[in-house]
Amino acid sequence: MKASIKVKYSIFLAILLISTLSILSFLVLNGIKNNQKNDYESNLAQQAKFANTYIRQIYLEQSKNTNQFLKRNAQQLVFELSSINGMHTAIYDMTGKEIANSRQYNNKIEEKEILSNALKDQIAYQVVGDYVEYMAPIYNEEQIGVIKFTYSLEKDINFYNDIKTLFINIGTVIFICSFICAYFYINIFTKSILKLKKDILNIKMGKYSGIIPLRRKDELGELSEGIYYMSNQIETNINQMEKEHENLRLAVQKLKALENQQKIFIGNITHEFKTPLTVIKTYMDLLDMYSDDVNLLKDAKVNITKETQRLYEMVEKTLHLSSLQKYDFEFQCEKVDVKDVLEEICNRMQGKAKKFNISLIKSLQSGFILGDKENLTYIFINLIDNAIKYNEINGKIFINSYITDKNVFIEVADTGIGIPKEARDKIFEPFYTVNKDRSKNHGGTGLGLSLVKELVEKQKGTILLLDTKEKATTFIISFPAL
Ligand code: ADP
Repeated sequence: MKASIKVKYSIFLAILLISTLSILSFLVLNGIKNNQKNDYESNLAQQAKFANTYIRQIYLEQSKNTNQFLKRNAQQLVFELSSINGMHTAIYDMTGKEIANSRQYNNKIEEKEILSNALKDQIAYQVVGDYVEYMAPIYNEEQIGVIKFTYSLEKDINFYNDIKTLFINIGTVIFICSFICAYFYINIFTKSILKLKKDILNIKMGKYSGIIPLRRKDELGELSEGIYYMSNQIETNINQMEKEHENLRLAVQKLKALENQQKIFIGNITHEFKTPLTVIKTYMDLLDMYSDDVNLLKDAKVNITKETQRLYEMVEKTLHLSSLQKYDFEFQCEKVDVKDVLEEICNRMQGKAKKFNISLIKSLQSGFILGDKENLTYIFINLIDNAIKYNEINGKIFINSYITDKNVFIEVADTGIGIPKEARDKIFEPFYTVNKDRSKNHGGTGLGLSLVKELVEKQKGTILLLDTKEKATTFIISFPAL
């Protein structure tokens, strides 16, 4: 089972506190015990010394007969000494026989060993229950016996037990308080670690935003800040990568579209160029076979001329268009008033319009742009020519020019057959025609609008087909005004 860092720290802390308190208590209590022992040892040694001095003094005052002296005075001595030191006192002669004691004291404790040591001129004692049996030799000029003090340890034991209880109580209180304080501190600490763990888990799951660094001025704070910056860096890199990926996808898409467009373009070129050539070749073959046929000759002349003209126009326009698409031409740009150009073109187109009984209605406002006059003429002629070609008898063409928002606008609108919705996106593609026959009858090639768009854009302008009702067409061109 996986133990959490909080549990581990808590257990470690509890063990540390208990061990520290136990060692401390043991050392203090042991010190007290040793101190008590030293105390009663020195006290008893002093008592023994005092007893000897006392015995010596009495001995000097009385007879010098050693044996008789001890027998005669032992009882009195023990009483006096006992009343001075408050301990049970007994005297033994050199045979080890007890000859006097301060009070009848019936202890069944084996004291032979310490007695025999004391009889050999040595201090000896033993602890028996709550008492210390202390034996010391007594002398006049030489050892005459042994004196025994029975020292009660009751006070010492009580004191020791009180201290022990005190230690247990204080130790428990210190343990609980320290544990609670340390637990709360560990809790704050582990909370920070858990937050870092969560942040790393979020990064692992790909959630980079929303990571807030810890407000700590230590290694954990530095680590958190590191994680924060790392997540930001990863997010930026991923975003950048995604952007680049998207750009790449768009570029590939564009390339594919371009490739497709090129395929269609080549297909169209092949088809459009083959058609007039086939017509010419067919007439040439027929003329080979029926060279005397006057009608065929007439027909051939008219159609070959027409197809040659169409072929010539197509070659010219295709070359113009592809050179515009390939190279950046330096246009002969100058300050041009679109009103002047449009006036001139309307005059030129008036004749053709009249042929179909179409009226040109002008509403022209002066507007200066930076443009190539020749190209502008080509653009407007193409649009007006289309408006005539795809118009109806008695139709109208509206030619307007005006300035708004720092742009010069030119509008060519007609009341003609209109452009179907599905064809609107394609009319600027090279060789695209809505109706092949109608276009062909008017000498159309499907290249006019592609060239117009290229030329407008090369002069920093835009052209768009207005989304109007089907039976009407409006083109709007805009150029930056000067
Ligand atoms: P074309 O030489 O065939 O006229 P364009 O590129 O000029 O070629 O025009 C492309 C096609 O857009 C034409 O074939 C025609 O179907 C359509 N179109 C262009 N202008 C108009 C218009 N004013 N009204 C209706 N259809 C138009």
